[in-house]
Parts: sequence; C-alpha cells; structure tokens
Amino acid sequence: MPEEVLQEAQENLFNYKGAGFSIMEASHRGKEYGPVHDAAISNLRKLMNISDDYEVLLLQGGATGQFAILPMNLLGEGQTADYVNAGSWGKKAVKEAQAIGNVNIAGDTSSDIPTRMPDNDRLQLTKDAAYLHITSNETIGGNQYMEYPQSDAPLVADMSSDILCREIDVNRFGAIYAGAQKNLGPSGVTVVILRKDLIEAGNSTIPGIFQYRNHAANNSMLNTPPCFSIYILSLTTQWLLDKGGVTGIQAINEAKAGRLYAAIQSTEFFSGTAAPEYRSTMNITFRLPSEELEAQFISEAAAQGMSGLKGHRSVGGIRASIYNAFPEAGVDALIDFMKDFEQKNG
Ligand SMILES: *Cc1c(COP(=O)(O)O)cnc(C)c1O
Repeated sequence: MPEEVLQEAQENLFNYKGAGFSIMEASHRGKEYGPVHDAAISNLRKLMNISDDYEVLLLQGGATGQFAILPMNLLGEGQTADYVNAGSWGKKAVKEAQAIGNVNIAGDTSSDIPTRMPDNDRLQLTKDAAYLHITSNETIGGNQYMEYPQSDAPLVADMSSDILCREIDVNRFGAIYAGAQKNLGPSGVTVVILRKDLIEAGNSTIPGIFQYRNHAANNSMLNTPPCFSIYILSLTTQWLLDKGGVTGIQAINEAKAGRLYAAIQSTEFFSGTAAPEYRSTMNITFRLPSEELEAQFISEAAAQGMSGLKGHRSVGGIRASIYNAFPEAGVDALIDFMKDFEQKNG
C-alpha cells in the first residue's frame, strides 16, 4: 500500500472529513459514502480508459469467487469455455469452471520450468467458445503475458496480480477481474470490468446475488458493499492518478523489475524461474544453488527488515513481489543484500 494512502486513511479514521464518525461507521446509502464509492469507480475508469460499453463492478468473494461466478453467468448450457492453464491460479480457475460446464484446456504450461505462457498461435481454441480465459500474471510462477492472445470468443482475464501495472486496451476484453489486495488496495473488494452485452446475455436462472446484471443495475450496492475496502481503493486509485496514471507507474515498474532481473542474470549464483520472454514485472521469482542457501537467504533478509521473500509454499525458491506501491529504494536494498549474500556464500 502507498504510504500516503495509509496516512490519509489514518488521519480520517476516527472522524471522516469532519462528519463526526468513521467511514467504517457510515451508512452505504449516506451522503459521506456515496462520493467515495463513485470516486473508486470513476478513478478506475480514468486510469484504464474504460468506455461506456463496460460496467465496473465492486464485488465480494475475491478472484476465487469469480472463478465460479464468471462461468455461472457466461458459460451457458451446451457451450464450452476455453481456458489457458499456465500456473497455480489458472489451474484453480479451470477447476471451478469445470464444476459449472464444459471446459477445454486451450494451452497448458502449468508444469513447465522455466515458467512461461503457452504460445498464442498454438492455442487449441474451440469454435464458438463462450469465452477464452487467461491469467494475465501467474503470481506464484512469476510468468506474465506480454501480448494477449487473439480469439473470436470474448477474452476474459484474471488480472489480480497485475491490474494497473501497465497500459492495456480494455476494448480487447470481454471481462477483467481482480481481487484488490495485490495492486489495488486492501482485501475485501473485487473489481470486475464487464462488457455490457455479456452482462445482458448472462444466465438468469442462477440466484440473483450471483447475477452480474443485478449488481450492475444496483451500482454494486445490491447488498452492503465492503465500504472501507472501497474507501481505500478510492485513495489508492487517486494516488495512482496523481503519480501520472498507468503510464507513469509502468515506467517505474519496468525500471524496478529490470534492475532486479539484471542482478539475477549477472551471476550464476542466482537463476530466474521464468522464461525471459514471460518475466513478470510484479513477481520476480528466482532460485539459489540449494534449498539450504535459500532458507538462509530468506532468514537473513528478514533479519534486515526484508520480509515476505519466501516463494509460495507450492514451489519454494525466492519471490520478490514488487507491486505498484513497492518503493524503488526497496528494490535497490534487495539488490545490495543479494550481492552481499553471494559474496559471503557463493
Ligand atoms: C491472489 C490471486 C488470486 C486469489 O485472489 P482472492 O482474492 O484471494 O480470491 C487469484 N488469481 C490471481 C492471479 C492471484 O494472484
């Protein structure tokens, strides 16, 4: 989270802009919360240049909820949805969709090392598929799409770990969704950007709470929204606008990741986990010569105030998650630590 955002939230926590109560205590129908809700949505529209052909919904249940809710709405009886499985999150999305309808695995690199995305021109696509689902950045493997696949079917992307990290053309997508807690703000709110015609065509026999159309018709206030998470989302998106929007942050992200990958590549001691053409700018994954050295690296780094470097429990290794709010100085400190560690243990 950006420090400025936390500070502003702290200053307003007890007495929101002089209202005499916290935004956490405000009614979601009240005059204090309304502008917060609208600002979160309009900031997202500005940052991503989202046209009126799309709805921006603020929902609950995380990206994992969308793994199920999206096919419930968009994968009709007798239809097939194409899925790319390029890692842990893709695999989970597939599993949930299979509980709803027919799924075709259009490409599978989920067990490839180095981690990578399938070649776009070799995907096995279904004719008249309901949609093609991808994970734009595999958070655990550290593999990220640089170019999205082309398909006749609407392209659907789980962008939980790289939304707003770079410029994208939203018009290429039927749907984009992201849990907020990586690049947008705190957990508890899930951003879902959906083409309006897909919402209208969605399944109307599922329970109302799961139908996108009902959330769209109620401006994401069908039931009580996660007001405090949305408040922080409104601040984080405003912070990003103030920083020059997505163009500004993209340059910073590329510089941060570039320096870290250069440090990894400069020596045999470290080896990157992702294939160079799919290296993520958000999650930098690498290995050391042995698991013992990795454990030592993680604990010595933590002792110097650099926590959270342990790779996901399913893959091991090291993972530096350097989301939008992560400062450049933090990346440089990590690089210094890596050089020092190699000198002592290499
Ligand atoms: C973290 C993550 C998820 C899970 O998000 P929840 O909001 O916890 O459900 C899904 N997909 C990707 C790519 C992620 O990084």
